[in-house]
Amino acid sequence: MKNYQFFCDFDGTITKEDTLNKFLCLYADKKWLDIEDDWIKGKIGSKECIEKQMQLFDNVDEKNINDFIDSIEIDETFNDFLNYLKSQDIDFCIVSDGFDYFIKRILKRYNIDDIKIFSNKLEIKDGKFITYFPNYNKECKPGAGVCKCNVIKSNRIVTKRVLYAGDGVSDFCAAKNVDFLFAKGKLLEYGKNTPINNLIEFSSFKDITDYIKML
Ligand SMILES: [Mg+2]
Ligand SMILES: [Zn+2]
Repeated sequence: MKNYQFFCDFDGTITKEDTLNKFLCLYADKKWLDIEDDWIKGKIGSKECIEKQMQLFDNVDEKNINDFIDSIEIDETFNDFLNYLKSQDIDFCIVSDGFDYFIKRILKRYNIDDIKIFSNKLEIKDGKFITYFPNYNKECKPGAGVCKCNVIKSNRIVTKRVLYAGDGVSDFCAAKNVDFLFAKGKLLEYGKNTPINNLIEFSSFKDITDYIKML
């Protein structure tokens, strides 16, 4: 048995594309790009960014959204990876700056419904999106909806080593607080320029499974 605990990003890591980004591209009023621009320029944090972007919708059609969500695909090797972790008694949870509504529906389609998720929350009410940010921490620099470093600090088991996988800016604050960092995309670039414990490049969950087997 391995004495490890796994925290994992969702969008672009478990899914092949960034769900929220694709959603906004397809369905949001063009104003979403101005808001995105403010975030790129650092004028607003990512929490404020997605909060404002979701407020642009005033006639939400639940069926459309569900159809959209049902078009999102995940890494084909993710299920095998989860089974391997279970066989090794390695705790697993998702830490995502996306919304529970999207994440749960996507995973359910792949028959995954027993995973702990730390994320932002979304409800649809009277044709509008209502957003909640229970894991927000205004002290944390990128101003993400979910402060991933806080989630890890509060949920890590002291006797276990922490493994983390991610691909983007929302993972930066977590990166320095883990023992092994599996990274791709922007997180990989960041990791190469930052003192990180063990930085491992990956492209699929099979790579991660193979690595853990060697630990
Ligand atoms: Mg991501
Ligand atoms: Zn943080």
